[in-house]
Amino acid sequence: MGGVSERSTHVVVIGGGFAGVACARTLTGQPDISVTLLDRNGYHQFQPLLYQVATAEIDPADVSYDLADMFAEHDNVEVRTADVTAVDPQTRTVTLADGGTVTGDVLVLAAGAQANFFGVPGAAQHAYPLYTLDDALRLRERLREVYVEAAAEGPASAGEITFVVVGGGATGVETAGALAELVGTILPRQFEKLALIRSRVVLVDHGHAVLGPFGPGAQAYAAEQLQRRGVRLRLGVTATEVSADHVTLDDGTTVPTRATVWGGGIAAAPLVGACGVGTGRGGRVDVRPDLTVDGHPDVYAAGDAANITGADGLPLPQLASVAQQAGRCVGFNIIAAACGRPRSAFAYHDKGIMAMIGRDAAVAELGARHHELHGRIAFAAWLGIHAYLMADARAETNAFVTWAEEFYLRPGHCPQRLLTPPATTARSAS
Ligand SMILES: Cc1cc2nc3c(=O)[nH]c(=O)nc-3n(C[C@H](O)[C@H](O)[C@H](O)COP(=O)(O)OP(=O)(O)OC[C@H]3O[C@@H](n4cnc5c(N)ncnc54)[C@H](O)[C@@H]3O)c2cc1C
Repeated sequence: MGGVSERSTHVVVIGGGFAGVACARTLTGQPDISVTLLDRNGYHQFQPLLYQVATAEIDPADVSYDLADMFAEHDNVEVRTADVTAVDPQTRTVTLADGGTVTGDVLVLAAGAQANFFGVPGAAQHAYPLYTLDDALRLRERLREVYVEAAAEGPASAGEITFVVVGGGATGVETAGALAELVGTILPRQFEKLALIRSRVVLVDHGHAVLGPFGPGAQAYAAEQLQRRGVRLRLGVTATEVSADHVTLDDGTTVPTRATVWGGGIAAAPLVGACGVGTGRGGRVDVRPDLTVDGHPDVYAAGDAANITGADGLPLPQLASVAQQAGRCVGFNIIAAACGRPRSAFAYHDKGIMAMIGRDAAVAELGARHHELHGRIAFAAWLGIHAYLMADARAETNAFVTWAEEFYLRPGHCPQRLLTPPATTARSAS
């Protein structure tokens, strides 16, 4: 395997998301450590902005960065595009879809998560999850299809177009807000024929408020802003079935839909459950305070694949900042163990939580005390945090900042056009 595997500790990282990249980055330049970073796509995808790809606000290339490029200057990191199909934690050997195997001295499970449909009939077949770039492009294509058909049919026969978003967490709220803006403001401005078609977005959640982890002030603000954008909230009801053209709710009603977006929850990547290590909530790997897996001192798990306990004894949320900090901690612990030093317990530095509803409307609860902000100032905080997260993956964030300027300063403007196909190539890292 060339130069990298001749070093004394060989680390195999599964997954080039926030956790895997942060871990590999921490290990760059270590003379006695070599890293093989395996990812099925070969690119890092910036999940927090996927809904903007789906709603044609930004280009797919702005949220996907070539992993080989990101580590091109680091000769101790080898990136391989490979789908991992099995993991043996005893021997720290991974099997790849092409039948090959890779064995490390240390293994890092950072394969992330996937949509959890909670067994709702029809959801896996008909709903559109939003966890990968492919998911975002599939949803975008579906929206395009709906409006191309509607434009061809004309307003009289197209009827009212409804989209359902299941899940009132950050993913559902951000998607519903962006979708409402796309179908209510942007498309009618871009295409005269569509101005006469009535479109609406319905957001369904079994809870009685949106944005569950936020405080009541932020929840009320988000609900009001969504409604102001024309989103109809159906709270306190559960989706019991999803079909191609309607969603059934547990109060006995049905909502017609042209596409159902699934923001209903996540479970760890299937690979994680098949490893034979202890898993808990959401199928995630239970980890020790130093992020190693019980009984396997040289196997670590981080990010959405791991159940990590916070200082208050509660599980940490599935957030990019948690994944990034945990990935770094794994990297430092690998270095410590290789040098014969004790490993450290992971301590999460909580920078807060935030969600964007639309132009001028965001909510943020900043810092460990979750100081609440709304509106423009929250939008600015959202922008800063996302630019910071993005900067870990790529050297410059120009495209993101340009998008933010356009978004903020030119209401109603949308640099992308839904009805034209997007450019899809992953960007280079700098
Ligand atoms: C729509 C959406 C919006 C979000 N918004 C925010 C936000 O605003 N702020 C925030 O902090 N967090 C946000 N999150 C959460 C955040 O994106 C995740 O917590 C974070 O991506 C987790 O990082 P990770 O490295 O564990 O997994 P991921 O980033 O999912 O990376 C996992 C990687 O593993 C690879 N992989 C998986 N299985 C295999 C396999 N078998 N073989 C090879 N490779 C494999 C995948 O290709 C992927 O690259 C959002 C998530 C979503 C889905």
